[in-house]
Amino acid sequence: MLSQVLEYARSQRERYVEDLLEYLAIPSVSAQPDHARDVKMAALWLADYLRAAGLRAELIATPGHPLVYAEWSGHDHHRPTVLIYGHYDVQPAEPFELWQSDPFQPVVRDGYIYARGASDNKGQHLAHVNAVASYLRCEGTLPVNVKFLLEGEEEIGSPNLGSFIAQHRDLLACDCVMISDGSLRSLTQPVLTYGLRGLAGFEVHVRCLAHDVHSGHYGGNVQNPALALAQILAALKDAAGRVTVPGFYDDVRTLSAEERRSLARIPYSEADLVRETGALAAFGEPEFTISERRGARPTLEVNGMWSGYIGPGSKTIIPATAHAKITCRLVPHQEPMKVIQQVQAAMRAAAPAGVEISFSDERGSPASLIALDAAEVQAAIRAAQHTYGNPPLYELEGGSIPIVHDFQTQLGKPIILLGFGLPEDNIHAPNERFALSCYEKGMEASIRFLAEL
Ligand SMILES: [Zn+2]
Repeated sequence: MLSQVLEYARSQRERYVEDLLEYLAIPSVSAQPDHARDVKMAALWLADYLRAAGLRAELIATPGHPLVYAEWSGHDHHRPTVLIYGHYDVQPAEPFELWQSDPFQPVVRDGYIYARGASDNKGQHLAHVNAVASYLRCEGTLPVNVKFLLEGEEEIGSPNLGSFIAQHRDLLACDCVMISDGSLRSLTQPVLTYGLRGLAGFEVHVRCLAHDVHSGHYGGNVQNPALALAQILAALKDAAGRVTVPGFYDDVRTLSAEERRSLARIPYSEADLVRETGALAAFGEPEFTISERRGARPTLEVNGMWSGYIGPGSKTIIPATAHAKITCRLVPHQEPMKVIQQVQAAMRAAAPAGVEISFSDERGSPASLIALDAAEVQAAIRAAQHTYGNPPLYELEGGSIPIVHDFQTQLGKPIILLGFGLPEDNIHAPNERFALSCYEKGMEASIRFLAEL
């Protein structure tokens, strides 16, 4: 059965490429109001495509761009259900002049499809749709129940998806969520992401004066808020890069020896970091490796600071106020609001005399951690191994995808983060591309996953 479905998908290769090219020609740029009609067109195209694949599909209105929801009409309560998430919106393509071909006139060149959205995310979720279509065409049935939830607002921060998930838990009920919106390390090395960091952020405001004053008349007799803020911020970390805020690491989980060995298999060196960033050297907690610091350790960073005069020439003042934007990347089990309170308390304690300190814009989202031993995750691991020839590397992602946490808390099921693209796909950049081989392997991985599940 499985080999017939795989054979069928291979036989349809050219048609599936043509379909993707047609989809990519729709400029569904969610951020730009001029493209609102195109976003809608992409949603309609996708719903039609899902119907042609043999699914029931509909558009669901939101206060923003619509969701596309689809499910298999043969839904059988005795079988497991996978919810496949993706997004049909794309990033703006500007600057157009840096593209070698028009971002919305997709072309195949040297084994790659070049177009905005090719890898992020149209090619990746269409691979899943084609996998389902191949199964239904070949067998007339699916081995498991399948639901699709494809949104049109991922690239603008999914403002309406969290509340939709919370209000439609029955509709979305499933045994696991499959998300393919990332990359392999290479065509022979799949990657399974099992953790994402969370975020906690706020702004700090330091006031020492009612207004800027003459630095000659008053200098030496009043506090300087820029210096005071620098002292406050400097007190938050030691010279080795450890955060010194009391309690900051209390809820951070300890890595087991096995997990440290697994993370050590990720081929990423200090030289790679230096090449990518232009940093003079890696810097961070000395007792942890780069891969551990990226995903398993929390951070505290200043994203911006401002105070006083920064125009041309000089202006001899003592500024009245100073400000900074602070964010912490959080790891599993840390609570955003608790961390914010801890950091703010440490800043109050570090404030010198003559300073009024206040905070605003507090916000946060927790980290996610996915248990690798869940049967559904194991099915994905086997599917990846058979498709790409090697078992996946297990990675902790340093960034945040808040929607993953929504899926996890609202649906309570494992989330499988298995990307089909490549690191050099130029997502969000000019000349975005998706390898034909990635597209084909993505379909194969999806077919094998449905079978394994
Ligand atoms: Zn993106």
